[in-house]
Amino acid sequence: MSGIDGKVVAITGASSGIGEATALELAGRGAAVVLGARRTDRLEVLAGRIRADGGRAQIVATDVTRRADLRRLVAVAVETFGRLDVLVSNAGIARTAPVSDLDVDSWDAMIDINVRGVLHGIAAALPVFRQQGRGHLVTTVSTSGLKIAPTQAVYAGTKNAVRTLLEALRQESTDGVLRTTSISPGFVRTELVDSVEDPEIREQMRRRMAELGIDPAAVARAIAFAIEQPDDVEIGDLTIRPTSQG
Ligand code: NDP
Repeated sequence: MSGIDGKVVAITGASSGIGEATALELAGRGAAVVLGARRTDRLEVLAGRIRADGGRAQIVATDVTRRADLRRLVAVAVETFGRLDVLVSNAGIARTAPVSDLDVDSWDAMIDINVRGVLHGIAAALPVFRQQGRGHLVTTVSTSGLKIAPTQAVYAGTKNAVRTLLEALRQESTDGVLRTTSISPGFVRTELVDSVEDPEIREQMRRRMAELGIDPAAVARAIAFAIEQPDDVEIGDLTIRPTSQG
């Protein structure tokens, strides 16, 4: 199966930014989308917009730190649309501070959402993929993991943990059932900076995002490119950043 039309795609972190743009891109190209996030009011609006445009969308209240929520997200995809072709594990937060600030609560939050959240998705989706004989796992990692900034060590670490995880899964899965894709965006204009707690760093990042950031739709198109390949073609890693990002 190649292309996007007719595929069933579940997306975490679909209530804003890259996840929302991905839902719109894929639904616009004929995918049935299952939208997961905590802010269900936003998901309702997004699903309404997709349906009004003739697309198929279902929402599921999803906190990725809860294993059962990911199981439900996958189950709703299968119950509503008959299967799950792709899980886009995109939910994430960024909290930036030097490691020496010892902001342990932020470390825990990033590990819980950015790493454990992806693992919960894998645990929920993999059995379905195996049963179907086919499946695709897409994750949103980051260029932060490729060029490490001093205040982003833990964030970058969580993203590189996911990159490692997907590469290991890829090597484990040479039977042709599973495709894995790690998308590494650079600066993208989204609400991500809102989760930065330090007001000074948050303002700096807001300015940088406004100056440099690319539209989340650009990342959505990269995700669509990975998904639309024929089953025997795996786009493993894709980096997409503003042309002027250093
Ligand atoms: P946004 O803040 O716009 O989106 C983050 C999404 O994650 C929201 O939909 C939010 O939904 C969801 N989320 C956060 N915590 C949880 C949780 N516990 N359970 C479920 N969903 C959760 O930022 P982006 O769109 O930019 O971020 C998307 C991904 O892209 C993240 O993984 C981020 O790290 C990554 N990324 C972003 C870059 C950028 O420059 N913007 C660069 C590189 C990577 P809700 O609050 O409703 O639950």
